[in-house]
Amino acid sequence: MDDIKLSISQIRDAASQAFTHASGLKGGHNADYIPYLANIDPDLFGLSIVLTDGTHFDFGDTTYEFGIESVSKVPTAILAMKQHTPRGVLEKIGADATGLPFNSIFAILLENDHPSTPLVNAGAISACSMISPAGDADAKWKAITDNIADLCASPVKLIDELYKSESETNFNNRAITWLLKNYNRIYDDPMMSLDLYTRQCSLGITCSQMAAMAATIASGGRNPISGKPVFDTEIAPKITTLIATVGFYQHSGDWLYTSGLPAKSGVGGGVLGVLPGVMGVAAFAPPLDDAGNSVKAQAALLEIMQTLGLGIMNGQNVTIVK
Ligand code: GLN
Repeated sequence: MDDIKLSISQIRDAASQAFTHASGLKGGHNADYIPYLANIDPDLFGLSIVLTDGTHFDFGDTTYEFGIESVSKVPTAILAMKQHTPRGVLEKIGADATGLPFNSIFAILLENDHPSTPLVNAGAISACSMISPAGDADAKWKAITDNIADLCASPVKLIDELYKSESETNFNNRAITWLLKNYNRIYDDPMMSLDLYTRQCSLGITCSQMAAMAATIASGGRNPISGKPVFDTEIAPKITTLIATVGFYQHSGDWLYTSGLPAKSGVGGGVLGVLPGVMGVAAFAPPLDDAGNSVKAQAALLEIMQTLGLGIMNGQNVTIVK
């Protein structure tokens, strides 16, 4: 096994350079199927890193609150595992990559009536239906948002305009929800479960909060910013597996092969990356590629991994020296 020693300033310099290089990139488009997202300033760009010892770096627009969108699938999958165990989530939802777009109905049919993973729309709606206490939308919402606040070490709040915009246009997700109901994969009221999913996607989050969430996963469940234990250590490799296998949807394999970084994207432009035992990273820039992954965010994260010679599959023992 390779031993690799990195200093904090090496990591900060790699991130600073990656941020500068990615800032100049053109290409991609804001998501426009949710009207609110189409109008966000496409030049916003932030990059945050939180190391497992709590050291953090922020570059650019890291205090801007953007729509968390699909990155919200990560904390709610963690909550479902906390409440029902990782095995319970495997049995009720599954852990298979779809290789298809995040909102694919075809994927549900191909998986033999199975939502397949909590990190695509179908599985995420199913995960919202699993959250306790069943039947109580307010208490479920509180459980979902308290968990996100614990993971971020600070509260997040709803972007009302985004929630409205998304609720008025989520016809595909309504179809997914009823199809899952037909296959007995919705474990509470279907439209309440969809509404919780839509609301969680409409939460505003900053890049630094997202990096704290990533670092909590990288630290095995203990938030390195607040010091609070948020989830059991056994959940960390499970959620990281889900992120690695499907975090970039139909580009997940190419992304992991190239970057070595398990990462989860959202159509708001956020990307959360987890390098277990080392760091959590997050980047945010609205223009997306054809799979819905932020162009600048992926470029920045890829460059950091390559400059530092890191990768989850590298079999490295990484030590960070002061
Ligand atoms: N709320 C969005 C949707 O359901 C989330 C999609 C995403 O971020 N990939 O379509």
